[in-house]
Amino acid sequence: MEILVKPCGEFQTNCYIIDKKIIIDPGMGAFEFVKENVEKPLAIINTHGHFDHIWDDKKIKEYFNIPIFIHKKDAFFLENDPFGFNPPKIKPDVLIEEGEYKIGDFDVKIRHFPGHTPGSITVEIGENMFSGDFVFEGSIGRVDLPYSNALQMKKSIEKFLKIPYDKRVLPGHGPATTIKKAQKFLPMWLDCL
Ligand SMILES: [Zn+2]
Ligand SMILES: [Zn+2]
Repeated sequence: MEILVKPCGEFQTNCYIIDKKIIIDPGMGAFEFVKENVEKPLAIINTHGHFDHIWDDKKIKEYFNIPIFIHKKDAFFLENDPFGFNPPKIKPDVLIEEGEYKIGDFDVKIRHFPGHTPGSITVEIGENMFSGDFVFEGSIGRVDLPYSNALQMKKSIEKFLKIPYDKRVLPGHGPATTIKKAQKFLPMWLDCL
């Protein structure tokens, strides 16, 4: 499985491309990176609805005519940015929930981890888990923003600690980690929430 990554925009939000087919979190300026590196792409998946993760959704969706997947509880961010940064408005196509999805030949497992936003998810494809702003290398996403919820974040971390297997974790910002490594540092964050 080939995974390309490019940090985009002023928040250096990681845009990932999996096997030239699936685009995760195309932030500001991701369009050029995507255009150069995909071949008949299948879908855009947003780990959550924050503007820095979805900015180029509209451009890419319209250029390639592909659907946008986002958790149903974060869909509203795409149509009406509550932060006033005014990313291009776009209606998502597939409102997802926790579960298994088939996108082309890809088996995609979605887990719902609310807290940073109501519809934050992780996206598992093969040996990789794309964690958005839920889990980073050594830290977790902010819970002091509008629509964040510290109590939900606490429950999400407890849920993450129960995942019985290891995978590479590719976050929305910064370098990769693994599920097992994250399970070592996450308990300390429980005390901060
Ligand atoms: Zn975020
Ligand atoms: Zn972010």
